[in-house]
Amino acid sequence: MKRADIDRLFTVLEQAMPAPKTELEFTNTFTLLVSVVLSAQATDKGVNAATPGLFALADNPHAMLALGEEGVRDKIKTIGLFNAKAKNVIALSRILIEKYGGEVPASREALQSLPGVGRKTASVVMNEAFGEPTIAVDTHVFRVANRTGLAPGKTPDAVEKKLEAIVPERWKKGAHHWLILHGRYTCLARKPRCWTCVIADICPFKPKTPDPEEEARLAAEARAAGRRLAPPRPRTARKAAVKKAPARKAARKTR
Ligand code: SF4
Repeated sequence: MKRADIDRLFTVLEQAMPAPKTELEFTNTFTLLVSVVLSAQATDKGVNAATPGLFALADNPHAMLALGEEGVRDKIKTIGLFNAKAKNVIALSRILIEKYGGEVPASREALQSLPGVGRKTASVVMNEAFGEPTIAVDTHVFRVANRTGLAPGKTPDAVEKKLEAIVPERWKKGAHHWLILHGRYTCLARKPRCWTCVIADICPFKPKTPDPEEEARLAAEARAAGRRLAPPRPRTARKAAVKKAPARKAARKTR
């Protein structure tokens, strides 16, 4: 994608979403970290449904450790992979206390050394909590980057590398949020809502999904035009034609 189009893409997305942020609910950096860990292969909505109960009991590493693995499991059992996630939340709480004075570290290396924290999770925490210009690539960012031609790549890592290289500094901090929200609400996986898309004019993806209302209107018009051109025969006439057909066939045979 050309530099001018990249600028236009982010300008338009910024206008549509002036203050983008994660949709995960959290109250401090620790609860942000836990929410992002819990959101692996789960929806933000599902995580948000479970975490208020968990964070009401434990919104810091000490309280989480005191709650214990079973207590955490009980609060997050509606989230996929809850057994492994409960184990990770307890293990990372212990490490935060033992190695980082109960604080969430800001460096990628330290974050990624925590159980359940991969590159994507670390990028989200660094961006959201510490204002770093990281671009975490999840399924939505991956899809939008490929469809728009912004940063095509076969793997999330490849897309992330390209995004890091081509997104201008001024857009980097918000890029992850704009792309994720655009993918979640407009550039949907199965049927992208191209007719409402603010970047449709610079997106090369084909075929673009047409406006369903416009399609329905055109179909209704076509049906009406068809009726005007060739009015359907009355039902009784159609029945008579069906009955007569074998008789005509028999007549031809006897000739
Ligand atoms: S035009 Fe369609 S495919 Fe392209 S970004 Fe917009 S919604 Fe996605």
